[in-house]
Amino acid sequence: DYQIRYNQIIVNNRIAGFALIVIDVTEKRRAERQRQEFTANVSHELKTPLQSIIGCAELIENGLVKNGDLEAFAGRIRSQGSRLVRLIEDIILLSRLDELHESMHETVSFNQITKEVFESIAHKAEEHHIELIKEGPDITYYGVYRYLYELIYNLCDNAVKYGKDQGYVKVITEETEKKIIIKVKDNGIGIPIEHQARIFERFYRVDKSPPRRMGGTGLGLSIVKRVVLFHKGKIKLESKEGVGSTFIVCFKKRLAADKTQEQAADTE
Ligand code: ADP
Repeated sequence: DYQIRYNQIIVNNRIAGFALIVIDVTEKRRAERQRQEFTANVSHELKTPLQSIIGCAELIENGLVKNGDLEAFAGRIRSQGSRLVRLIEDIILLSRLDELHESMHETVSFNQITKEVFESIAHKAEEHHIELIKEGPDITYYGVYRYLYELIYNLCDNAVKYGKDQGYVKVITEETEKKIIIKVKDNGIGIPIEHQARIFERFYRVDKSPPRRMGGTGLGLSIVKRVVLFHKGKIKLESKEGVGSTFIVCFKKRLAADKTQEQAADTE
């Protein structure tokens, strides 16, 4: 997309020439379109559970629900309410990620993050007899703890959500001379090849119906991607339907001392 501007060049109060300026606004328009799409999606996603809650309440109010069915209706209101809370939390987190600051960096340990993530998903994993495993050395990295936690949390939470009963979820850390690699691997349902390119998009889901275990928001992987990009890393997916998925995150090695050197280089 282009925008064309036409200017007169004036020298000593006289028209000395004309300038035709062509501005490439492709990126600006694309960002604007994405923002509009996101807002439309957000309102749709928020309205769906709310309409369901209002619908249930109306039926009860009008005496159309038999006493024996009240519990089921209360359950529906509760689960749709919880879904709303998750959606709002994810939307807030995503908008905070847009204003991440360098000053939030600290030295973090991936073993520590993994331990905390495993603790918070242990009950879901136990329910489905899914084993949580950490492999590889402890790696320290200079980054934003809260967001790196979200990265590992969302990948592990998905791995459990889309895992198979009696399966496993592994967090594997590896390091090379210049890079650190974090893999989150499951032997769950896998992601069909035709969906793999799109799953990092906001609100994109392979199956439009709510996931079989705990309704997802469709925002988890966009949070993951945002955190990876902020830390100037890369993310890759290897997955096979019915076999399992591995998400591979790669960061350049970075310690607090490197950060000071980077700052010094910036001011030179
Ligand atoms: P959701 O909240 O729906 O889980 P995400 O953004 O986290 O949203 O993931 C997008 C979609 O990618 C999911 O709906 C699911 O279909 C698919 N997906 C993500 N992780 C996995 C996984 N480990 N195994 C299988 N499918 C997955």
